[in-house]
Amino acid sequence: MIVLVTGGAGFIGSHTCIALLEAGFKVIVADNLCNSRVEILNKVMEITKKNIIFYEIDVTNEHSVDRIFSEHHIDGVIHFAGYKAVGESVKEPLKYYYNNIISTIVLVRACQKYKVQRFVFSSSATVYGENEVPFKESMILKPTTNPYGESKTISERILIDVSEANPAFSVALLRYFNPIGAHESGLIGEEPNGAPNNLMPYITQVAKGKIEKLRIFGADYPTFDGTGVRDYIHVMDLAEGHIAALIHLKEGIHKYNLGSGKGTSVLELVTIFEEETGIKIPFDVIDRRPGDIAECYADVRKAREELNWYVIRDLRMMCRDAWRFEKNI
Ligand code: NAD
Ligand code: UDP
Repeated sequence: MIVLVTGGAGFIGSHTCIALLEAGFKVIVADNLCNSRVEILNKVMEITKKNIIFYEIDVTNEHSVDRIFSEHHIDGVIHFAGYKAVGESVKEPLKYYYNNIISTIVLVRACQKYKVQRFVFSSSATVYGENEVPFKESMILKPTTNPYGESKTISERILIDVSEANPAFSVALLRYFNPIGAHESGLIGEEPNGAPNNLMPYITQVAKGKIEKLRIFGADYPTFDGTGVRDYIHVMDLAEGHIAALIHLKEGIHKYNLGSGKGTSVLELVTIFEEETGIKIPFDVIDRRPGDIAECYADVRKAREELNWYVIRDLRMMCRDAWRFEKNI
């Protein structure tokens, strides 16, 4: 089976390429390297000892995408390519709506033209908005608080409409919770551009001495220790969720939460990181970050029942793997 992976040089895409290659899939990556480097794909090939066909293209460009579909018999698409910085999306909404939505439309049109019936989409837990935890796939989505989140909700909506009009087009909407960690080789991991926005890369950079102190965004949330609660998932577990989705994908539209099902607070994650690495993480508690919700964790029963997928890596492993990678770069 040949899979086109858009955004395959990025954080989640590169780990998913490893899982795909190890499961015996042939992989074509389309990435414009706006937030990644071609060396990452070389490392994926080094780890797996398998080949990747790489197209350095922008997937909002219809002609470039058409070329890939005309040159290969593609069996399925996993669409990771997109922008993901929430704060930047508030400042530059059009950039986000354009890239994240047009890329989805261009790829779906190519799938229709070339009769590719399997499509796996990188969605996000952010589409639930401020709902009651745990988030369930059947919930009515609440408005998100930023253009990034809206671009995911709109892309989901487009895919739902296309699949309803043509049920043979099988779509998995994968709603990721908080992917952290890195491949156990320490060769690939999360490489944020500039100062990190997310908690784990911030922690590892403090541990390395690149940043002086962690800033905890609020300790007055209605959670058990006052800090924000999230559902952290090892990026390799998340990667393997894509294989399960591709294999089990049936006709129509299917939504799955990919998370651990467990909520962890900021302070808990800091403590586990300190225990696993023996490094103290100094922090200050500052004001809440605008747009953040108190708690976000998944009900993961649907993915377990329908995809036979569930996480096998714990928080300690996520911390160890993230730290091993940070030390290597
Ligand atoms: P990433 O930025 O590391 O990877 C995205 C990749 O897409 C990059 O390699 C980038 O160069 C490429 N890209 C972006 N726009 C492109 C375009 N128009 N044409 C070709 N390539 C393009 O991000 P990630 O963390 O790996 O996230 C992958 C997907 O998962 C994104 O769609 C993101 O919104 C979604 N997601 C991520 C998280 C998270 O916490 N990382 C959570 C939920 C959902
Ligand atoms: N967070 C924090 N300091 C940081 C980055 C994040 O306290 O430097 C908190 C944030 O408020 C949230 C949790 O850590 O409660 C996870 O944040 P992240 O940005 O990683 O994920 P998201 O908020 O997108 O779920």
